[in-house]
Parts: sequence; C-alpha cells; structure tokens
Amino acid sequence: MDYYIIFTDLDGTLLDHDTYEWEEAMPALNMCRDLHVPVILVSSKTRAEMDHLRRRLSISSPFITENGGGIFFPGKSLNDPPPEATFDKGMWRWSLGLPYPQLVKGLNEIRDELGCDIKGFSDMSIKDISRLTGLDDEASRLASMREYDEPFIVADNGSFDRKGLYEAAARRGLTVTEGGRFFHLQGMNDKGQAMERVVSWYKNLHKKVVTVALGDSPNDYPMLERADHAVLVGAQKDYSAFIVKVPRLRVSPKPGPGGWNTIVLEILREKEEAGNVGQL
Ligand SMILES: [Mg+2]
Repeated sequence: MDYYIIFTDLDGTLLDHDTYEWEEAMPALNMCRDLHVPVILVSSKTRAEMDHLRRRLSISSPFITENGGGIFFPGKSLNDPPPEATFDKGMWRWSLGLPYPQLVKGLNEIRDELGCDIKGFSDMSIKDISRLTGLDDEASRLASMREYDEPFIVADNGSFDRKGLYEAAARRGLTVTEGGRFFHLQGMNDKGQAMERVVSWYKNLHKKVVTVALGDSPNDYPMLERADHAVLVGAQKDYSAFIVKVPRLRVSPKPGPGGWNTIVLEILREKEEAGNVGQL
C-alpha cells in the first residue's frame, strides 16, 4: 500500500511565474484530493503568504516556508505534532532555519565586504517589493513578513563576483540560493532537508511512503534529488549538470501549472494502473 505525497514548489511550478494563477493545475489538484494524496507546498514564500494561499487552495497538509526554514502544520490537521514543534499563532511550527535578524545582519556585512549594490527585502518598501514581484500591496506585505530567509537582488546582476558572494555567505555559516526572481540568504537549511523531516513525520502514520517532487529552479534541486519521482517543470535555466545527478528526472513539456497538471496526472494514473487506488 503505497502512500503518495507530493512536494511542490510554487512560483513557476504550481503557480504561473507571472500571473500567480493555478487554474490549469485544477484537474490534477482535484485528483490528489479524490485519492487523498497530500500536496505539500514548498516555497521561498513566508508563512503569512503560504497560509493565505493554502486556504485558497483548500489544502490542510503541512507546508514548508522560506526555502526549508520552517515547517508549519495547520492546527486542525494535527493529532500528533513532531516533538520539535511548538504551537504558535494557530499552527505548529518546526524551525529549521536561522532567525531573520541574523540574516539581515549577515547581508549587511556581505554588502560592505563585497562593495556591490545588494538590496534585500529589509531595505525595500512594500512598493519596492510589489514592483519587483508583480504582487499587489497586500500580497507584498505578506511577502515582507520574513522569518528564515532574506531575498535580495544585486544591481549589476551578471557582471558581479558570484563566487565571492557565495564564499562571503559561507564564511558566516550562511547559504545563498537562487530562485526564479531573487537570490536568497539563509542558514544551512534547504527545501530537501525540510522535505525529509515531513516524510519522516508521515512515516509514523504510513509504512510505505512514495514521494513526488516538482520544481523549476536550482533551489528545488535538493528536493528533487531526494524524491522517488522528480519533476522539473518547464525548466528555463540550464539543468544539464543536474540531469546527470538525477537520471530519472522528468521534464514537463510546459512551464507552470499546465506542466504541473500534465505530469501529476501522468504519475497518479501510473499509480492507479499499478493497482494502488482504493488502498490508501
Ligand atoms: Mg520556482
């Protein structure tokens, strides 16, 4: 009796990169609901943003925020919280990342050291964030409520010393990752480690867990590497080195929710054909 769990990135994967819509993924999302396959949202977005979004999607599964910095279990869905979790503002919170003030301090130091024009969310107004993300003011306000990850831009992107940036972060025990829009400064946490914690929590309830992971950017790779079914959704960046590491990787023909829909339906149908349906 295989228990399938889907881990998915949001921007550019379940959500359209530009419009943030997910309409095209509805057939596959509905099939997940019918088959009781949990959909775990995994993003660099904040708890505030993701809690809002998961309610709109009617998802009550745990979700992973800020590149694996936090795992949140909506209160009602939980009989058996992980021992590491604490109850906070209506949900169980499992912290894996570093506290935000430490990241802001680290980014300031890195900017001074490298002397390049770095701008983090903590330096930006709600209007700045809105302009860069295309989100409206309210959504930008939710995006600014950081707990474990500082998104930033570098003005001379392309010509600056990328290696120097990564090394300056590493000297401070921090990591830089690249998402679809921003660089991110964070602790040593990543989406893959957080996924592992969630899988171990589900394994207390279900013997045979099968994982599916979908993403579109390098910060999704740690999650894809660990998954039984790894899916790169409409990859825009060069992933040739990555496909060597994960030879079973599926690459969706379309970007965003359309690609998500096609591949998730394909995987769920394969699961059905294997005779697992009805045994969940
Ligand atoms: Mg993405």
